[in-house]
Amino acid sequence: MTLITFRKDATDGKARTGVLSTPRGDIRTPAFMPVGTAATVKAMLPESVAATGADILLGNTYHLMLRPTAERIDRLGGLHRFMNWDKPILTDSGGFQVMSLAALRKLTEKGVTFKSHIDGSRHEITPERSMEIQKLLGSDIVMCFDECPALPADKTRIAQSMRLSMRWAQRSRDAFGDRPGHALFGIQQGGLEQDLRAESAAALTEIGFDGYAVGGLAVGEGQEAMFGCLDFASDQLPQDKPRYLMGVGKPDDIVGAVARGIDMMDCVLPSRSGRTGQVFTRHGVLNIKNARHQDDPRPIDDACTCPACTKYSRAYLHHVFRSQEMISSMLLTWHNLHYFQQIMDGMRKAIAAGTFTRWQADFHANRAGGDIEQL
Ligand SMILES: [Zn+2]
Repeated sequence: MTLITFRKDATDGKARTGVLSTPRGDIRTPAFMPVGTAATVKAMLPESVAATGADILLGNTYHLMLRPTAERIDRLGGLHRFMNWDKPILTDSGGFQVMSLAALRKLTEKGVTFKSHIDGSRHEITPERSMEIQKLLGSDIVMCFDECPALPADKTRIAQSMRLSMRWAQRSRDAFGDRPGHALFGIQQGGLEQDLRAESAAALTEIGFDGYAVGGLAVGEGQEAMFGCLDFASDQLPQDKPRYLMGVGKPDDIVGAVARGIDMMDCVLPSRSGRTGQVFTRHGVLNIKNARHQDDPRPIDDACTCPACTKYSRAYLHHVFRSQEMISSMLLTWHNLHYFQQIMDGMRKAIAAGTFTRWQADFHANRAGGDIEQL
């Protein structure tokens, strides 16, 4: 029987590095998961996503249940075969996106009913239905169905929401059952409140999960508040299981989260930014549509080994972006995903070597210097 296991190899301060082993392959942690919302990481072939160094990607239950539907994906052999990605997949529960995208939501103890943002059709997600959908998709890491209140909210509202999510966590655990080779992660809630986060962590630990997510952050509270919450939130979760911070983030958010004991993250930022001309490098952020690049024969980053940097100039990337050519999204997304994975690789090595403090200082110093001088 193959089970999902988490092996913690080294720590440096609160930062950890290790391996989450699944039947579909190992996930090196800290891990960044690119987002493949509609069964594709936009503008990327799956083999290109793997070439950037990604061990796992994220699929969105809400989008896939509406189109093409979980039942259709199941009939076609599951999400891995459907999208031609044979490494691990984590799926979210659908809860967060129902709250942010769907119309006419109605929340009850049982679950959420809503209208599709695509065609207005009526749907319901309950903890049981979310587990069923994620099973039909064939997800390797399944997330509990939860509710995430928008911040700011008053403490009473946050507490009520968190306790509902904990009841849903128990129902998710019961519905998930025993599925060797598949993991179920619980999601800690409680806003920015230390006592509510502690209550949530205790409830989840009592139920027992294969991993624990910190939910309800990166929803507009700002980096300082998020780091302040992570300073206690990750310590409240079990040491011997992976910890996943949902929906994070910018490069400096990622580094700060790892420094606070986070093992896994996901974000649309590198792929979405690739389509809007925003490029992340070790020197910070640059915008390829800026006229300063139009005669520049140099690469985005002469130290980057991605195809955009080894084969193309800033001038070319500027031109294809301005001309709205598809290759622009392809190359810039590839570069951004590659850069994010380079950050993860650098952190894994530094944590293993016990040099993470020095690595962070270099990371911030490089960014503070800004992009290379204009020609
Ligand atoms: Zn590059």
